[in-house]
Amino acid sequence: MSSGSGVVVVGAGQAAVQLAESLRDAGFDGPVTLVGDEPRLPYQRPPLSKDYLAGTLSSAELALRGERFYVDQGVELHAGRRAVHLDRGRRRLTLDDGTELSYGRLVLATGARPRPLPIPGGRLDGVVNLRTIADAEELRLRLRTARDVVVIGAGFIGLEFAAVCRTAGPNPVVLDIAEQVMGRAVSAPTAAHFAEQHQRLDTRLLLGRAPAELVGKRGRVTGVRLADGETLPADTVVAGIGVLPNVELAEAAGLETAGGIAVDEYLGTSDPAISAIGDCAAFPDPRGTGRIRLESVQNAADQARCLAAALTGTPRPYTALPWFWSCQGDLRLQIAGLSTGHDRTVVRGEPDKGFSVFCFRDGTLIAVESVNRAPDHMAARRLLAAGVPLTPEDVAARGFSLRAHLRGARV
Ligand SMILES: Cc1cc2nc3c(=O)[nH]c(=O)nc-3n(C[C@H](O)[C@H](O)[C@H](O)COP(=O)(O)OP(=O)(O)OC[C@H]3O[C@@H](n4cnc5c(N)ncnc54)[C@H](O)[C@@H]3O)c2cc1C
Repeated sequence: MSSGSGVVVVGAGQAAVQLAESLRDAGFDGPVTLVGDEPRLPYQRPPLSKDYLAGTLSSAELALRGERFYVDQGVELHAGRRAVHLDRGRRRLTLDDGTELSYGRLVLATGARPRPLPIPGGRLDGVVNLRTIADAEELRLRLRTARDVVVIGAGFIGLEFAAVCRTAGPNPVVLDIAEQVMGRAVSAPTAAHFAEQHQRLDTRLLLGRAPAELVGKRGRVTGVRLADGETLPADTVVAGIGVLPNVELAEAAGLETAGGIAVDEYLGTSDPAISAIGDCAAFPDPRGTGRIRLESVQNAADQARCLAAALTGTPRPYTALPWFWSCQGDLRLQIAGLSTGHDRTVVRGEPDKGFSVFCFRDGTLIAVESVNRAPDHMAARRLLAAGVPLTPEDVAARGFSLRAHLRGARV
């Protein structure tokens, strides 16, 4: 696109800020405008359930870039403003204060919001999500006086919160309707190890148990009633049952959605002047499984870089290898690739010293989950990105070393 036409980004989170920076790095000198509905400098979310919640990271350290970045890079930031209407015909975006912005290219980086609890009582005082800095601040305050904490959802965020809660508040109870922790995202050996470690540290894990209702008195939550009749006492309930992509603006403007804002491999939506990146975008899985949506810093940042390249004249399809991490107390989990659909695992290492789970589908390596084994993770990312062949037999062989295998493949 010509540098005279401006890029307007809806959402001012991880993906939006990376896009602004990458556009400038690539020499784009047209106007760049970010519109974000949170009234502060754009910030990183991962520490909200880790160091920031634990009180070991300040809000200044949470910011993705300092205030000077926006001034020096000529990036106009509308913080605390919500985009409420999109007129695709006139290429105009309306904000909640009536401001109209015209664009040459619009980028939707609207992220996702917590999935509401599908049971009665979700609006009682003491029931909190963990998505924004405001949520984390509220939880930090509540943990000072909380006596009974229940976490609904044993996913990454629920378990990260549980680990911090153990040190900054009472031992929580974590419940999940699934039989396995982090069910959607990790293999059985990894899940079993994490469940064991949380229980060893006196976190009560209730798996395969469904909440039926949040009960309360005078508007405040007092307990979680389970479907089997047991009621857990609770003055604080953290809901971590996943997110919903923010697609409403796109939908109202008639853009195609498919479990997220539908984009092609170049991250373009059904309107050639509009792209979508980050948590809100449903993009074609390079492995050919259809459209997928990922919720990670890697995905938000790499899609932003890919789009910046396209907007400055070097388009390439988005094929970056997904990777993730999660910190739960002393456990650091790093995942390279997507393990969905794996049919075989091979474990290397030892539970108390660090280990990696190699996940295969039809004999092909698709993901490596490393627990307290960072060098394996870094090697696995290179190996998977380069498509170096590795069989379950290779991994199971005595003396196997991932790094040596990688060196042998010369990637
Ligand atoms: C507690 C927590 C811990 C996490 N930990 C990890 C981790 O350890 N590792 C990892 O890889 N990922 C982690 N993630 C996920 C990661 O933070 C997200 O994948 C990433 O922030 C996505 O970036 P994004 O720019 O797509 O969306 P976001 O960062 O969510 O930004 C989107 C912004 O757009 C705003 N917005 C939405 N609609 C509008 C509108 N109409 N007008 C204006 N603004 C709008 C939203 O309010 C939000 O501020 C974590 C997330 C959370 C919540």
